[in-house]
Amino acid sequence: MTNEELWNVALGEIELAVSRANFVTWFKDTKIIDQSNGIITVGVPNGFSKEWLENKFHKFILKSLRSNAPEIRAANYSIVAPSANNVKPTKPKFKKEPIFNDAEQLEFREFYIDPKTNLHPKYTLDSFIVGSFNELAHAAAIAVIKNPGRAYNPLFVYGGVGLGKTHLLQAIGNSILKEGPNKKVYYLTSEKFTNELLNSLQNQTIQSFKEKFRDYDLLIVDDVQFFANKTKTQEEFFHTFNTLFESGRQLVFSSDRSPKSIPSIGEINDRLISRMEAGVLVDISEPEYEARLAILKAKSAEKKIDLPESTLELIALMVQKSIRELEGALNTVNIQSKYQNEVLTKEEVRAILSKNLKPRNTITPSQIIKTVAEFYDIPEKSIYEHTRKTEVVRPRQIAMFLLREDLKGSYPYIGQKFGGMDHTTAIHAYEKIHEETKKNTRLEEEIKGIRGKYQNQQR
Ligand code: ADP
Ligand code: MG
Repeated sequence: MTNEELWNVALGEIELAVSRANFVTWFKDTKIIDQSNGIITVGVPNGFSKEWLENKFHKFILKSLRSNAPEIRAANYSIVAPSANNVKPTKPKFKKEPIFNDAEQLEFREFYIDPKTNLHPKYTLDSFIVGSFNELAHAAAIAVIKNPGRAYNPLFVYGGVGLGKTHLLQAIGNSILKEGPNKKVYYLTSEKFTNELLNSLQNQTIQSFKEKFRDYDLLIVDDVQFFANKTKTQEEFFHTFNTLFESGRQLVFSSDRSPKSIPSIGEINDRLISRMEAGVLVDISEPEYEARLAILKAKSAEKKIDLPESTLELIALMVQKSIRELEGALNTVNIQSKYQNEVLTKEEVRAILSKNLKPRNTITPSQIIKTVAEFYDIPEKSIYEHTRKTEVVRPRQIAMFLLREDLKGSYPYIGQKFGGMDHTTAIHAYEKIHEETKKNTRLEEEIKGIRGKYQNQQR
């Protein structure tokens, strides 16, 4: 087998085992660039792919390589620039395209929401891109799909606007229905629950309202923060919740904040919140630069958008807050470049984007880590080593805290940035420093000093 054949066979196996979005994101533009003495070197397009293949797919890659070429003992990954024949033409040829291309035809399906479930077919796990910012939420969703009503019940997903909560919740519903078409699945927002309840009270159909809700195998309630301050709705919801929960049905919720931070207004609310907390809580954070770039690439492939890599990089750099904003920016830049029928310059892209964006920080994790190391006068590289020396552990915890506070990094991402530590280490560090800053004014001053230093480095 040639290297190319071997890799194609391996890719074929990998493709079956991972979602399409992940496959496109992580395995596009990869190839075997060397094979000697049983060691395979896989060429990858960037550091992010490299990290993901090493950390997440290595065993799997090695296994499928070996099953086709038993002499292979090891695989490693190396960044290579895309080869010349992969370089895209500089002028997109829009004019020849039919008016309705595939991407636009797909959009028509968006009008199709099944009224029985309120599920939208476009929200699938297959189109859900996973990065460290959302991997815990994704893993929890998979667990729910595999074993509804069992271990992960209720599942509570929280995170800011446009980060993929609705997409993930709907994907859970769609997947469970796909595996069991007779399952009774229902998705709704807390506002819709409130409206349905009020209507049924008005029309004196409360009994059938109750029966309807207590019959679901999976009930998904999106944006439960809107239940706050609505006592009557909360009470009804609480009863629905208990009935379903006690008969082993699966419940999934989302909110823009953790249950603890939903303002409490009385006893029923407290009971509801403690019930929600008793299940599994997972958050989705803001995607880091590499994940943003990967999302832009996957969305471009999905929508058949063909913008140069440098444009995507610029968008990923400038649009930091949410996936919804990233999609919006991608569409805007694409439409503008179609309109001008030429590749936009950096300045043009910047001008389009800055119209809609507030300036955000451009500090990188390594800048923060470097500043912390300098501040405490320890070698920068010691922070990345898995050492337990107190003079290193403390600054490392402070650096982790700052990555979380100032860059809104997810815990798995922070762990990764510190030489591949576990996300629980990052959680522990964050919580420890967070608690201490409340009592320890000296620490507070130190952190202020560190922040002052790296914020000064920004232009
Ligand atoms: P939220 O409910 O948290 O406000 P949404 O689920 O509505 O966010 O996501 C906003 C948009 O971004 C949607 O179009 C969604 O499909 C897309 N999106 C969010 N997360 C992902 C992801 N991980 N992979 C692919 N698309 C995503
Ligand atoms: Mg939503």
